Amino acid sequence: MSYRSRVRGCLLGGAIGDALGNPVEFLSTHRIRERFGADGLVDLLGDPALITDDTQMTLFTAEGLIRADVRGKDVALVVYRAYLRWLDTQHRSGPPDDADGWLAGHAFLYARRAPGNACLSGLQSGRMGTPADPANPDSKGCGAVMRSAPFGLNPRWTVEEAFGAAVECAVQTHGHPSGYLAAGAFAAITHRLVLADLGLAAAIEGTLELLRRWPKHEEVTAALEQALTLDRAATPERVETLGGGWVAEEALAIAVYAALAHPTDVRRALLVAANHSGDSDSTAAIAGNLLGAWHGETALPADWVSRLEGRATIAAVADDLASEFLHGADLHTDDEWTTRYPGS
Ligand SMILES: [Mg+2]
Repeated sequence: MSYRSRVRGCLLGGAIGDALGNPVEFLSTHRIRERFGADGLVDLLGDPALITDDTQMTLFTAEGLIRADVRGKDVALVVYRAYLRWLDTQHRSGPPDDADGWLAGHAFLYARRAPGNACLSGLQSGRMGTPADPANPDSKGCGAVMRSAPFGLNPRWTVEEAFGAAVECAVQTHGHPSGYLAAGAFAAITHRLVLADLGLAAAIEGTLELLRRWPKHEEVTAALEQALTLDRAATPERVETLGGGWVAEEALAIAVYAALAHPTDVRRALLVAANHSGDSDSTAAIAGNLLGAWHGETALPADWVSRLEGRATIAAVADDLASEFLHGADLHTDDEWTTRYPGS
């Protein structure tokens, strides 16, 4: 499985999960069955199938990481500025004439699809949260974890560095330890899938060892351990024993559980991750990131990918992220590249 295919798989997989869960995000299992039948949602809806804040923010994470690499330093600051560009998309009807960089010029990103309050308030505060002084110290919503897969995709970082970078950028909106440690753990799991060529269970076991070195890791550790050991029957009722996914450690646990329940069948795994009473788009987005990172782009349901809103842009961001991480030094002298991704 090539690195490039895994990076594409990670971003496109997350986006199809997000679009799949989007129509049922605020529906209980009972209402989902009433509307779609006993098996619940069985297909991606809409053409195009609409992505939400989870994919939007993941794209800006990726853009921020590319631009930080172009700059050669200041990952937290440059990713923070990328998140401010995402914030701008939530307050405008379309790209400004002087859009900062290539990504912010895409009209489809200027859509408000139930963004999380902590993401909005953390970025609107005008102050960048840091590990020593995080934004929203009590927030552990899933808004940081759901955008953090790209931190696991840099082959020049160790798994500890991937974890740390995700934490540093998570605290810009989510200051509760479970909010930022779930983001770090997600990045580390992704890193092991893509760059250590481990299976998902092994990637999680290794990440649990890392996680235990952090203060206040207990909630995230317990949630991941529960997901690893839970009976794999994967009914919505079983999924709901892991929680609703509105908070970070539960979102990660539900995603991991769905992926473990159908480790080689992305379609079925994403349906498990979306069909429950909780935060369906975020849990399915994280599951899609994980399965795409693990198995690569070709494992994703082709009929779903083809209907995805912004598919070409998402694939292009994935390819650009891989190019930057693999060949950054060669690209930095290319004016077209540094106009697309300024180092700021
Ligand atoms: Mg969403």
